[in-house]
Amino acid sequence: MSPVRHKILILYTGGTIGMVKDPKKDTFIPFNFQHLLDQIPEISAMECEVECDSLDHPIDSSDMKPEHWARLAKRIQKDYDRYDGFVILHGSDTMAYTASALSFMIKNLSKPVVLTGSQLPIGVPRSDARENLLTSIEIAIAKKADGSAVVPEVCVYFEYDLYRGNRTHKISAEDFEAFTSINCPPLATVGVNIKYNHSRIQASGLDPLNVHTEWCNDVGILSVFPGMTPSFVSSVLNNPEIKGFIIRSFGSGNAPTDPWFLEKIEKVVQRGIPIANISQCIGGNVELGKYEASKAMLEAGVISGSDMTLEAGLTKMMHLLAQDLSLEAFKKQYESNLRGELTDSPF
Ligand code: ASP
Repeated sequence: MSPVRHKILILYTGGTIGMVKDPKKDTFIPFNFQHLLDQIPEISAMECEVECDSLDHPIDSSDMKPEHWARLAKRIQKDYDRYDGFVILHGSDTMAYTASALSFMIKNLSKPVVLTGSQLPIGVPRSDARENLLTSIEIAIAKKADGSAVVPEVCVYFEYDLYRGNRTHKISAEDFEAFTSINCPPLATVGVNIKYNHSRIQASGLDPLNVHTEWCNDVGILSVFPGMTPSFVSSVLNNPEIKGFIIRSFGSGNAPTDPWFLEKIEKVVQRGIPIANISQCIGGNVELGKYEASKAMLEAGVISGSDMTLEAGLTKMMHLLAQDLSLEAFKKQYESNLRGELTDSPF
């Protein structure tokens, strides 16, 4: 009897991995998927069937929008039973946002969704694209002895590390090691063998797949800095369209203690608009009340972003705001661990 062949769907959205140089403008532009596949004949030699689909017009990931996230999530839902796993080729610039958004949109995953890309286009001799793509496929088909997926999560694979997608952050536009996940160790590290960190990988969803693609992008980010003026802060917080804010704080959740700043924050919360506190530090976590410089925000009703990345905190806000929750219910959900995006007891 011939061995069961696993089936993978590759979804190509664009990004450097498939780009070519436009000789006229001397800039990198997204190119079609066939070009990319032609560069990696090894794919056809892999022990799996690979099917591919591509956006009609591949994009630089700077142009990714929630509409694209929803299309990807719906496509995975539509073809969920036909494939063992999914690989999404994506530009690295906003890959952490897409991975985070998909983790919230798709609930009860029991199959891998691996996002990858590269720092150099596939046609360039020293490109990192080949390894990133081939290993992502291997991870997407990896099974345990009982036939279940080894990594039933939305994850990011880049330069020998597999990360939980909603913990990633792009740290370099130069190094092949473009991503980090400081608050959550890699789910796997890759050398001669792929070493899975089984205790870190989330369990398979037992309930049926559940996809929610609604989002609310009436959100705003206020990154605090020394010397910011009342009029600047008002111009951000007084925007009547915005339904949720993130304050990018210093250190463990701190911000200036000027009374005018705290009054403006209180007024927003009194209007029933949630404000979440996410640190500008990418490692460690928000501890509201640890310092005097965060205690007043806690008292004003600011929500803790714990050890979430900005990418996870923002997409979680967009996802929860679409659900019309009361401020209290929003706070409860936002501070809860929904998809492994925050550490339950960080201390
Ligand atoms: N600008 C590119 C993108 O995000 C960069 C990359 O793919 O690495 O689409």
